[in-house]
Amino acid sequence: MTMTAEHTKTCSHCTRDLPLSAFARRRRGAETRQAWCRDCINQTRREAYARAHGRTA
Ligand SMILES: [Zn+2]
Repeated sequence: MTMTAEHTKTCSHCTRDLPLSAFARRRRGAETRQAWCRDCINQTRREAYARAHGRTA
């Protein structure tokens, strides 16, 4: 148990402990949040976009 005042969640991609606000909510009213933080999702989106357009990095 940790003594954190703010609720945090560990990103399953970068494994950082981040506040819940760093995670996008999946559905209204449910406690389900994305397993990945916004940073990881954005990065993956960008990489997928680059791959789809035949570019690396
Ligand atoms: Zn992350």
